[in-house]
Amino acid sequence: MKKRRNRRKKIILLLFIIVLCLGVGSYFVLMPAQVSLDFSFMSESVKDVAKKIEETKKEEEKETLTPPQEETITSDDNGYGKEITGPTYIKGILIVNKTYSLPNHFATGNDETAYTALQRLQAGANQAGYSMPLLSGFRSQQTQETLYNRYVVRDGKDLADTYSARPGHSEHETGLAFDIGSIDNNYGETNAGRWLKEHAHEYGFIIRYPKGKEDITGYQYEPWHVRYLGVEHAKKIYEKNITLEEYLGIA
Ligand SMILES: [Zn+2]
Repeated sequence: MKKRRNRRKKIILLLFIIVLCLGVGSYFVLMPAQVSLDFSFMSESVKDVAKKIEETKKEEEKETLTPPQEETITSDDNGYGKEITGPTYIKGILIVNKTYSLPNHFATGNDETAYTALQRLQAGANQAGYSMPLLSGFRSQQTQETLYNRYVVRDGKDLADTYSARPGHSEHETGLAFDIGSIDNNYGETNAGRWLKEHAHEYGFIIRYPKGKEDITGYQYEPWHVRYLGVEHAKKIYEKNITLEEYLGIA
């Protein structure tokens, strides 16, 4: 009896050891599999992240390539027929005119780079013997609205639209445009005005509303209004004797 019991015990012990071995064995067999699974999951998620970054990049590219949405204004347009709400950049240049508008609070003041360039231009003018004071720089949309409405009351909408921008459409809202020298239609014929016309590009500026280009710019000749573009662009525009609209291919 004792012997049998012992043998039974031995069998049970043997079975127990076998089960234990199988358990431990399978643990070690499965572990690396689990680990490798974990890694494949990791690399999948890394791939996913990379893919997502790629997709966002493509979407961003698409956004810059897709032309801005156009809105149609139905009544008395005076050149404001189509509105493209901005800010809109073409060739990296911010464009604001009767078609392209700016959102409210786009800028809060004069652009630092533009203002520094303006100071250099003023110094250059001084050296040539001309005083070129800054008469008007950055304007908020609210200020532009007040100004425009005042002109409409004084001259009527049709005339006001030839020399004053509606709120959201003034280059002065960009912080990149300045009225300098003298706000006088004959300023371009004075020595100072002539100097400005011939040298503004050397400092990165263009005369934004040139003579004889009213139908393209939408504004009368403004020999005092300069727009900062940087020397490279300004020089090209000056040499080609064209408007910003023509340069950007939207004339
Ligand atoms: Zn101006």
